[in-house]
Amino acid sequence: MHQSLDIAAILRRAEQFSPHREVVSREPDRSCHRTTYGELAARARRLASALLRLGLEPGTRVATLCATHRQHWEAYYAAPIAGLVTHPLNPRLHPDDIAFIADHAGDRVLIVDEAFLPLYEQIRDRTPFRNVVVVGTAPPGLLGYEQLLATGDPEWQPAELDERSTALVTYTSGTTGRPKGVEVSHRAIAVHALSSALPGWLAIRDDDVVMPVVPMFHALAWGWPYTAALLGAKQVLPGPFLDPDSLLELIAGERVTLTGGVPTVWMGLLNTLDAAPGTHDTSSLRAVLSGGATAPPAMIEGLRGRHAVPLVHTWGMTELVMGAVANLTWDLQDAPEDEQRPHRYAQGVPMPFLEIRARGDAGYVAWDGQSLGELEIRGPWVAQEYVGAPEASAEQWTDDGWFRTGDVVTISDRGYIRIADRAKDLVKSGGEWISTPELESALMDHPAVAEAAVVAVADEKWTERPLAVVAFRPGTTATPEELREFIAPKVARWWLPERIEIVEAIPKTAVGKFNKLALRQQYDTPTDTPDAAKADS
Ligand code: ADP
Repeated sequence: MHQSLDIAAILRRAEQFSPHREVVSREPDRSCHRTTYGELAARARRLASALLRLGLEPGTRVATLCATHRQHWEAYYAAPIAGLVTHPLNPRLHPDDIAFIADHAGDRVLIVDEAFLPLYEQIRDRTPFRNVVVVGTAPPGLLGYEQLLATGDPEWQPAELDERSTALVTYTSGTTGRPKGVEVSHRAIAVHALSSALPGWLAIRDDDVVMPVVPMFHALAWGWPYTAALLGAKQVLPGPFLDPDSLLELIAGERVTLTGGVPTVWMGLLNTLDAAPGTHDTSSLRAVLSGGATAPPAMIEGLRGRHAVPLVHTWGMTELVMGAVANLTWDLQDAPEDEQRPHRYAQGVPMPFLEIRARGDAGYVAWDGQSLGELEIRGPWVAQEYVGAPEASAEQWTDDGWFRTGDVVTISDRGYIRIADRAKDLVKSGGEWISTPELESALMDHPAVAEAAVVAVADEKWTERPLAVVAFRPGTTATPEELREFIAPKVARWWLPERIEIVEAIPKTAVGKFNKLALRQQYDTPTDTPDAAKADS
């Protein structure tokens, strides 16, 4: 019973029990490469031995700068089973941030897609890589991925691993500040895989076809490369093609049952489906997971109601991968639609082994679905600290070891978490809080609005006021006054934003969330607002 819970055990499971289960990977030329767990596992072991033959010390960081494809999948296994550490870098970050992160993590090897070589050129002088391995055609002086793999021993098997040793390092995307890194142990990945696959959460089985749309560098892409392999589900890796048409083609062609991404991806998909109803076959989907930012109710209802696409709200963070899924608990399954709906809109119930509490101004709040507090969490896959950042760690973890998420939530008596806002995004107006996701959702209910983001701007009288930034669907429009009238019945009068800015598109972060930091920087200029704004507060 003290057998180590590690990534080598997950790979062994896939190789022994699901050797013929397919993994489909989109190549740079858009063709679909078909392979199996048997073949991938053998290649991952061989790559592990090739990495060790480079003379790397145990614990050395092997960075990746890759799209979601089969070689990236192999690297996710090869480094950890060799006692090394995989470090997925986010190619959509600014080159300065990528250089900072690679240097901070002490990455020694880089596995990079040919398509990202121009990006590598921009950071090479500021990064500590000793070996650079290119997936695709390697220019002179760099090593080709297949060339490296060929130097490995096909018979190599992993040595015994310590389940508490680090398997992966990952950094936050920096939505609220400088990127911070966390180490994830083998054990954390194994227990997360088991818990997240349970029936009340993702319910993954071997007859599922899973397609991660959230890129692999982001919150470990929800741990899917491991979870799906452990359960023997078919995997579809979409490569660099994450636009709605490419995804719809894979969903129909591969009969995808389970997929996951950030809300902006699903908003794009909804718009494509709305533009040509009935032309895309999405009948295979049993759950489309949306996490990373609030899923607007209008999007959930649009996908469910108009296209029978079952969108399921989830909550996750870099510091803990996946934390909660908004399935209906047993006592809600036959409840009237009106009672079910708010639970689908909530962020969900935490998976087994995760413990939660919410801290308000006067201590931990009741689980009454009303009282607001900052969510704190602990569990066997919640990070312990930020790498090499003792001050940030001391701020983010309580003295008794709970992680302070920075999310302001209510918890219901059934254990559903509902995020009111990120603590840093809440608008504090006249001493009272305004939830930006609620205002955004109200605006996105308007038929002309494609996207809406609300940020706090400084205000002399009320300290802060909400400012809305809105982008319209093609060929539609509305005036700020019409939008205010539209949302007036849905929110308190003093919540109504005085300023509504119309833009072509809302700036996004590297993982596709609204970039509120950039919006605040652009629009946060102090102004005076009329007293009427607070009239009936
Ligand atoms: P970053 O902190 O750089 O944005 P993360 O991906 O770790 O990187 O972001 C985690 C945060 O994203 C959470 O703390 C929460 O605020 C937000 N988030 C994740 N899922 C949801 C969700 N379903 N609804 C609302 N917010 C979410």
